[in-house]
Amino acid sequence: MDCKEAKSLIEAYIEHKIPAGKLPQFLDHMQQCKTCLDDLQVQYAICTAIEQLNRGEDFSDDYNSEVQRDLAKNRQQLMRHARKIRFLRVVTLLLFVVSGFAIGLTNTKNVFRTYLPSTQESRFSLDYYGIDRSRDPVYQAIQKYNEEVIAKLRELEAEQNKELPDEERMGQE
Ligand SMILES: [Zn+2]
Repeated sequence: MDCKEAKSLIEAYIEHKIPAGKLPQFLDHMQQCKTCLDDLQVQYAICTAIEQLNRGEDFSDDYNSEVQRDLAKNRQQLMRHARKIRFLRVVTLLLFVVSGFAIGLTNTKNVFRTYLPSTQESRFSLDYYGIDRSRDPVYQAIQKYNEEVIAKLRELEAEQNKELPDEERMGQE
């Protein structure tokens, strides 16, 4: 925030009407810029004195200290607010992690339930790592190969059975 903007916000600050989004930069500027702080203290003294006069109250002893106290109070409030936001962020992150873990656990359980009874470890591990088998070309190639091999074996078996004499076939069975 530059001096021009800071000075334009002094009145709003004194009247507690400064936009919340501008307050942190305004406070920072007042900490760093003696000229603007002087302006704030002068304007604060004038405004407060007029108010006190209107209300018939006594004038303050030290307007400058009042301004400093007010600035410090606002800084502390902002810091508390920032801490609260940080805390909420951590809580939200933890909730994400915990719910993610819960979802993961549920899926794993389903995988166990669906594939463990068949005791096909390769299938199980593919699903366990979240690979969609219907779209996995390696898995499909293996499946196709297995089917071809099985078909070939059946063919050979059928041919062998055909070639065997009836007695031997009976003996085999
Ligand atoms: Zn300044």
